Parts: sequence; structure tokens; C-alpha cells
Amino acid sequence: MTAAGTAGSTQDEVRRHNVSTLLRYVHVHGPTSRAELTTVMQLNRSTIGALTADLSQAGLVREQVPARSAGSGAGRPSLVVCPRPERVYVFAYDIGVDYLIAARVGLGGSILDRRELHRLRGDYALEDVTAHLARFTAEMLGRAEPGSVCVGVGVAIAALVRESDGQVRYAPNLGWVDEPLGTTLAEMLGLHGMRAKIAVANDADLGALAENVRGAASGSTDAVYLTGEVGVGAGIIVGGKPLRGAGGYGGEIGHTVVNPAGRLCRCGARGCWETEIGEKAILDAAGHPDGPRSTVSAVVAAAAGGDPRALAAMRHVGEWLAIGVGNVVNIFNPEVVIFGGLLRDVFPAVEQQLRTTLATTGLAAPREQVRLVTPGLGPDSTLVGAAELAFEPLLFDPVDLTRSLRA
Ligand SMILES: [Zn+2]
Repeated sequence: MTAAGTAGSTQDEVRRHNVSTLLRYVHVHGPTSRAELTTVMQLNRSTIGALTADLSQAGLVREQVPARSAGSGAGRPSLVVCPRPERVYVFAYDIGVDYLIAARVGLGGSILDRRELHRLRGDYALEDVTAHLARFTAEMLGRAEPGSVCVGVGVAIAALVRESDGQVRYAPNLGWVDEPLGTTLAEMLGLHGMRAKIAVANDADLGALAENVRGAASGSTDAVYLTGEVGVGAGIIVGGKPLRGAGGYGGEIGHTVVNPAGRLCRCGARGCWETEIGEKAILDAAGHPDGPRSTVSAVVAAAAGGDPRALAAMRHVGEWLAIGVGNVVNIFNPEVVIFGGLLRDVFPAVEQQLRTTLATTGLAAPREQVRLVTPGLGPDSTLVGAAELAFEPLLFDPVDLTRSLRA
């Protein structure tokens, strides 16, 4: 991440840019000494001091004497600038086909509180989902520190989402078509007196964002985050920027047709990639068509133990995974492909086969450059991505946003 404190044409714009850069740096990297900030932002000490004072006054950071230097007598130590999660936080929601997760995430990225609900796969109504999230939110609000402020709300969902208002245009595995998720959540949070902006985005895009900011794709300019659950999606970063498409609906890699003779997909097409590597494909191949999600882990374990049917299921997934990943490698030439969601569980079991088959499906030049890994953030990539999305308005204009929300 580049942190040089430049750009902006007027003095005020320069100040805004620098205060944003500084807060973003400590949000991502954690407590940072003024000396280090001076180096990474290429600004002088007094400017760093003034920016820190602005952020400190807004309640966004605090400064402390570094523990090791305290009382050492070796000159005045450089103060350490720390984000204040106890004062400033966001709500992050991850809406899956068979789970709901809500979390209160503090500035700096720490998960302060979380609630989860796991249930059977199904076509749940919008009101059912938002009612659970409302209950979780009320519980977590009740435990927040007095005087702390919610500066944003981010939502991850396996769906095509209209960015402007969080309208879910299409979520085949939830059975949703044109559901007003963003506005319904806004009404719900308004009941709690919250004024923070709500941003809704595709779960794979947010997984990619989180892994790029603080996970396995940290420092990468070209990365692909694959999430496999009931459906399969991709968050794609090209040249340091998320690949969105004209309407923000790009990356629906699960619905690229890989097997025209294959099964019908819930999108209406036949032989989509997710019909070969998604949860249903794994459970069907393993002989547990109606098992819950946890059955996938059991299949992976059974394959490790030599169970023939489980091994065959893993071989099936490994083969089709390699076909799709070959396409990804050939099209995008990514530095890293991250296997998230359910694929995180499956990846170790199929890694060898995947790499072997990829030697024929992926062209040598891009294949030699790609790392195949599981998420640095474990199972929380999409949730953390929702939090990062929610923090974006604050990080863009920290002082003014904080002032307006506290007013
Ligand atoms: Zn499809």
C-alpha cells in the first residue's frame, strides 16, 4: 500500500488527503509510531503532529508512549498513533444461503462483537433476514461503549447488487429477484437512531477487498478471490482496482458454462461452473444430497481417510476446479488465486490434483506466476470485507464525517 502524502490542489484538499491517508494507514497496519508515519507518508514531523492532532480531537486515534521505550531514558521516544475501536465502529453483515453473521467491527479492523445464525438452506424472505439482523444489531448496540459512534454499515451477500441503493437484483440461491435490501436495512437501523450510510455488495467482491487490504492478497495488484458456497463467485482485482463491469455485476464466474451436457443451474442455464464445484455437486457426488453444509467437511475428512466415494467426489471437484481456475489464470494472469468459503475446506484435499491438471488447463507463462492459497482471514474474508466497505466513507473524509455523525 502506498501512503505518500501528496495530491490535492488547495491547502484544504491536501489536508483532507493527508488526514485520510494517515487514518487509513493506522486502520490497516495498526499502532504506528510518528517516526514511521513521517517516513511512509514522506511528510515532516510537524505536519504528522498536526494531522494526528486533528484525528485525535475527532476521537479517531490516541497517542501513547511506546511500552518498550517508557522510562528507558534514551531520549524522547516517538509517540505511537493507535486507532480507537472503542470510539468508532461499523456494523458488518454477511448474508449466506444457510447462515447470517453480524458483527460490530472497530476502527483498526478488530471484531468487537459478533452474532451468527446457521440454518438449513432455503428461500428465506427478505423480512426474515432483516428481522434477524435487527435483533443481532440491537443486542450489539446495547453492549457498545457509551459515546461510541457507528460510522457505517456494510453488507455482503451472494447476489448481484445495485450499488447505488443496495437493491438485490438477483440472488438465485436465496430465490431473490429485485429485493430492496439496502432500503429495508436503512429503515431498520433508523429505528435505532443510527444515521450511518449502508453499503451492500457482492460477497466475493468483498472477500477480494478484505484479502487485498489485510489478507493473502495484501500488496497484490492482480488477484482473484473465489468463494464457493451453494453458489460460486469471484472477486477480481486487476491493476490494483476491483473489476466491476458496467453495472457492478461482473465476476459471476460461477455461471460461466463449463459443461453444456451438465446439470441445470438455478440461473436457468445448464452446466454452469457452480453445478460442478458448488456445495450441491460435492454432496451429490459423495452420496449425501440433503446433508447440511458441515457434511462437506465430513466428506473431505472421509476422503483423507480413504473412503472411495468421498475420494471420487473430491476427484470430481478437483478436476472441474482445475478447468475453471485454468480459465481464470489464462484470462487474468493473477498473482494469487484465493480459495474462500467452502473451497477453503476443499482446497487441501484437491490441491495436488488441481496443480497437476492446471498444468494442462493453464498456460505456462501465467501459471508460473500464480500462487494458489486459502484466505489469510480464514472464514471471515467476506465479513471483514463488509466492514472495510463500511469504513470507506470514514477513511475517505475522517474528520468531517465524524463531526456530522456526532452532531
Ligand atoms: Zn448458472
